[in-house]
Amino acid sequence: MNEMTTSRGDEQLSDLRDVLLNADPACESDDAELFTGPDLFEPEPDDVREAREAKAKALCAECPARATCLAYALAVVPEAGVWAGLTVEELRDLREVAA
Ligand code: SF4
Repeated sequence: MNEMTTSRGDEQLSDLRDVLLNADPACESDDAELFTGPDLFEPEPDDVREAREAKAKALCAECPARATCLAYALAVVPEAGVWAGLTVEELRDLREVAA
């Protein structure tokens, strides 16, 4: 039973990802590091991170895939990046409010 539930969940997640990728996401044609930041071994000062996240959020605000992106991010619980105009901390807060 749990295996079937997991498989259906994986399938729904896969379908959601396909919808997201087919919705012409703005970040697909932009600098991916704008959304993810530098790698973990490269320090990013707070003011630089805040400026980068603000630019990413501005692109998200115009993105046709934003609603799907939010659903996907809430499902996968990313550990880094800007998703649907929200940082992972903001996504975590949203999940807590919705729980
Ligand atoms: S809402 Fe933002 S992170 Fe999500 S697909 Fe669009 S540009 Fe990318």
